[in-house]
Amino acid sequence: MNKATDLDVLIIGGGISGLATGWYLAQNGLKIQLWEQSERPGGKIQTDRYQGFQTERAASMIMNFKPEVDQFLHQTGMEQYRADRLLPSQSKRYLIHQGKLKSLPMTIGGLFFSSLWSTSGKFRLLAEPFIGRTNKTDETVSEFISRRLGREFLEKAMEPFISGTLASDPDNACARYVIPRLTALEQRFGSISAGIAVHKITGTRTARNPESFSFNEGMESLPRRLARLPAMGFKAAHRVTQLIRHSEEHWEVSAKCPDGEHSLTAKHVIISTPSFSAAEILKPVHAQLSSVLQAIDYAPLSVVHLGFERAGVHHPLDSSGFLVPRQEKMAINGNLWMSSIFARRAPENQLLLSSYLGGSRHPEDIQLSAQTSIERVLADIKPLLGINQAPIMTRVDKHQQALPLYSRDYPQKLTAIEQYLHTLPGLHLEANYIGGVSIRDRIVSAHQKAHTIIAQLNPKSSVIPNTLTADKPLIETIA
Ligand SMILES: Cc1cc2nc3c(=O)[nH]c(=O)nc-3n(C[C@H](O)[C@H](O)[C@H](O)COP(=O)(O)OP(=O)(O)OC[C@H]3O[C@@H](n4cnc5c(N)ncnc54)[C@H](O)[C@@H]3O)c2cc1C
Repeated sequence: MNKATDLDVLIIGGGISGLATGWYLAQNGLKIQLWEQSERPGGKIQTDRYQGFQTERAASMIMNFKPEVDQFLHQTGMEQYRADRLLPSQSKRYLIHQGKLKSLPMTIGGLFFSSLWSTSGKFRLLAEPFIGRTNKTDETVSEFISRRLGREFLEKAMEPFISGTLASDPDNACARYVIPRLTALEQRFGSISAGIAVHKITGTRTARNPESFSFNEGMESLPRRLARLPAMGFKAAHRVTQLIRHSEEHWEVSAKCPDGEHSLTAKHVIISTPSFSAAEILKPVHAQLSSVLQAIDYAPLSVVHLGFERAGVHHPLDSSGFLVPRQEKMAINGNLWMSSIFARRAPENQLLLSSYLGGSRHPEDIQLSAQTSIERVLADIKPLLGINQAPIMTRVDKHQQALPLYSRDYPQKLTAIEQYLHTLPGLHLEANYIGGVSIRDRIVSAHQKAHTIIAQLNPKSSVIPNTLTADKPLIETIA
C-alpha cells in the first residue's frame, strides 16, 4: 500500500508563475508548499530603493486586458495598492526615426498619414486585406509581418516592438507564439484588417483595450503578498536538488536548506523555475525531457537606470518612452521614462529613465562593465532628450538569462515537452517559457494550470472556472 503523501502539490520556484499557481491551489483548499532557492519571493521581479529612486530589476508594469488578471488582483487584495499610469492612455508614443525622436499619432488615420512611412510603404499597408492566408505554421514574425504588411512596417514598427519588449529577434521568433492575436486574425478572417473590421462591426472584440499599471511600492509587492499567505506554505532558502518518482501516485522532492536537507512527498509537483534549472532537476528523471528544456534559448539583458535633476533634461518626457528600430544603429533597444509613467519612482524634481541594453540584438553587451553600459546609454539618450548634466543616480541590473525566446523551432520543442510530460503523471511545468513571458500571461496560465490539477485530484469538483479555450495560444507581448 502507498504511504500517504505529505502534500497535494509541491511547487518548485517562487517567481510569479509558482506563486500565482500556488495561490489558486491554496484558495481551493489544497495542501501545498512552495520551495524557493533564494531568500526572497519574486524571482525576476524585484523592486529596489536606491538614493530615493524606486527601480525595477525586471518587470516594471503589467499590461492587462484579461479578466482573470482583474479577478486575481481583486481576490488577492492587491487592487488597493495598484499604481495607475500618470499619463492619459492616449498620450504620445515615440520611436526613433532617422536618429530623432518621432511622435506616433494614436489614431489609425493619423498613423497612416504619418511621415514615418514612405508612399510605397503606405500602399503596401493598404494591400493587406488582399493577401491570402498561409498554411505554414512555422513562420517567423519577420516572415509573417513582411508578407502581410510589408518590410517597412516590419522594420519601423514591429521589429523595435519585439526587440524592445521581448528582447527577441523577429527574424527568429515564431509568429504563432509571439504575436498570436495577429496570426489568429489571419487564420479566422483571412486578413488582419478583415478581423479588426469584423470585431468592430459586431462588437465582438476578443480583448479590451490594454491598461498598464504597477503597484505603489513597486512590482515586488505582488509576489511578497502572495508568499505571506500562510496556506501558500512558502519556504525560502530551499534549493531543490532531487526529484524521485516513487509510484504512479507520488513524488519525493528534496531540497538543500541552511539547516540541512529537507524531503517531502506530494501527489503533484509543479516546476516553476527557468527551463535550464528544470532541466537540471529532471536529468535523472527523464533525460530526453531534460535535454529539450536545456535547449530553450534565453536572451541576456541589462537594465540601466539613470536619475537626473528635472532642470537638466530639456525634453518634456510626455510619454512612456521610446523604442529603437535596429537600422538606427543605437546601443539601446528602448528607454522607459519611469517617473513620467508612475508616481513615487523618483524624488521631487528628479527623473528616472530606465534603458535596455543587449537582448537578441546585442547579446554580447551583457559582458560590458556597469560603467561602459552607462556610457553607452548616455551617448544615445543625451542628444535625444537634451540632457546637459551627469546623472545623479546610476544603477545597472544584469540578467544573463533574462527572457526565454520562443524561437522558430519552439513548436517542435513544445510538442516534445508535452509528449514527455504525458509519461510522467503528476509532474507539471509552469513558467515563462510556456504560455508567455508577461506577468499577465503568467497569471492566466497559472489559473489554467491550477484548474487542471484540481480537476485531476478531484474529478468531480472543478472549482476554478476555466475561461480559456484550449486552441488559443496564451502568449501575448509584454508591456
Ligand atoms: C528586464 C526584464 C523586463 C521585464 N519587463 C516586464 C514588464 O514590464 N512586464 C511584464 O509583464 N513582464 C516583464 N518581464 C517578464 C517577467 O518579469 C518574467 O517573465 C516573469 O517575472 C518570470 O516569472 P517566472 O516565475 O516564470 O520565473 P522567475 O521569475 O525566473 O522565477 C523562477 C524562480 O525559480 C527559482 N528556482 C530556480 N531553481 C530552483 C531550485 N532548484 N529550487 C528552488 N527554486 C528554484 C528561482 O530562484 C526563481 O525565484 C520582464 C523581464 C525582464 C528580465
